[in-house]
Amino acid sequence: SVESLTKTYRSGGLFSTTPPVQAVAGVSFDIAPGETLALVGESGCGKSTIGRVIMNLTDPTSGHVVFDGSDLATLDAKAALETKTHLQMIFQDPFGSLNPRKTVRQILSQPFRVAGISNWEPRVLDLLRVVGMTPPERFVNRMPHEFSGGQRQRIAIARAFALQPKLIVADECVSALDVSVRAQILKLMKRLQQETQVSYLFISHDLGVVRSMAHRVAVMYLGRLVEIGPVEQIFNAPAHPYTQALLSASPVPDPERERTKRRIILRGDIPSPSRPPSGCRFHTRCPIARPLCSEREPILEARSADHPVACHFSDLAKADAWT
Ligand code: SF4
Ligand code: MG
Repeated sequence: SVESLTKTYRSGGLFSTTPPVQAVAGVSFDIAPGETLALVGESGCGKSTIGRVIMNLTDPTSGHVVFDGSDLATLDAKAALETKTHLQMIFQDPFGSLNPRKTVRQILSQPFRVAGISNWEPRVLDLLRVVGMTPPERFVNRMPHEFSGGQRQRIAIARAFALQPKLIVADECVSALDVSVRAQILKLMKRLQQETQVSYLFISHDLGVVRSMAHRVAVMYLGRLVEIGPVEQIFNAPAHPYTQALLSASPVPDPERERTKRRIILRGDIPSPSRPPSGCRFHTRCPIARPLCSEREPILEARSADHPVACHFSDLAKADAWT
């Protein structure tokens, strides 16, 4: 569970007049075992920051990350180490995350060695089999640069699964791959999820990929969560004007629907997160904004079961902009 998470970056020292940047502003959500929650939104909306806070790569300014019932900030050293093995991350560029001077054997044995497991050789070979790199003996002595992007991502996935993770944060993990390789990696991740009940926080700007991977989708705009719900509801009946605009800009697989679908063009650029607009942060670009929108910030509230939306006029948004 992420609870009221806020992350503010300050620049320029104590007496600086530059306003702090609120990268994440009061975001809460849960992820269940075996579930994939996708986090979507334009770049700079705070998605990656949330992933980094969950992975303990950066501290939140306020709020909590609760994992298996314990607040990550209050764990003692032993519990923190244990939790760390259950939380793993897969990055966009496995080349950056795999040490170029190590062999696959060294890379994949590292988690076992850190955990004090000595007889790791068979486990390393098993991991390679699990991610479809067979026969493993053919791969285990090679270095990262000898592999394709897809194979490198398989190695990164193998490493993430070494110690039975419970949650994997995958940040744009297939964005650098071509379409056919991407499909294979997504299929592998789904299979591993079915076999291990791992949860994914799947951070992506690619709505096609999100639709095929996610059970639920959380949409962010300028550091705020604006809508969260089951994947079919988000794609078939998006309730927030921003979600509707994002979807209208993303191609749909059916050519006939693609040709006839309505496009919502947003005015202007994303405002600076150091000076977010008053009231609803989306009001400067929203096609249905009204005076109230710049005065009062909408809270995230459930309009239907398990589908909360932060918009004063989401009922109008449905009728007006989407159908
Ligand atoms: Fe648009 Fe107002 Fe809803 Fe914000 S609250 S999304 S500005 S209609
Ligand atoms: Mg990012």
